[in-house]
Amino acid sequence: MLDALQHKAHSNVGGFTLKSKSVMVRYRSSVPISEAAMSIECSHEKTIRAVRPSARGCEECLKTGSKWVHLRLCRTCGHVGCCDDSPNRHASKHFHATGHPIIEGYDPPEGWGWCYIDEVLLDLTDRATPQLGPIPRYY
Ligand SMILES: [Zn+2]
Ligand SMILES: [Zn+2]
Ligand SMILES: [Zn+2]
Repeated sequence: MLDALQHKAHSNVGGFTLKSKSVMVRYRSSVPISEAAMSIECSHEKTIRAVRPSARGCEECLKTGSKWVHLRLCRTCGHVGCCDDSPNRHASKHFHATGHPIIEGYDPPEGWGWCYIDEVLLDLTDRATPQLGPIPRYY
């Protein structure tokens, strides 16, 4: 009986469309705390490099004349792409194309990073990338 209940709960959790900001909720609701603590560690922090941003804005949007909402900087290669709230989602596309796991919020540098693979926030306040300005804002 308990197994059946757990299975049901798990299916319900799996039914949501998870977005980045809901990840903490997912961990809280579906896994024991000790397990969650292990799950939210990122094994890619050692791949974070000091990079030079590739462009003053989303690299691809600048080429096509598109607009973006927020910018994300790849901490593997310096690619600047737009966030998932932007029409073209170039930062996510860059991750899927290259496998580069960690991006930094970049408008302006806010001191946080995000690992696409582990889906966790990282503290980059001591290693934020200075912004190459000026960068256009459309919001
Ligand atoms: Zn990671
Ligand atoms: Zn873009
Ligand atoms: Zn990259």
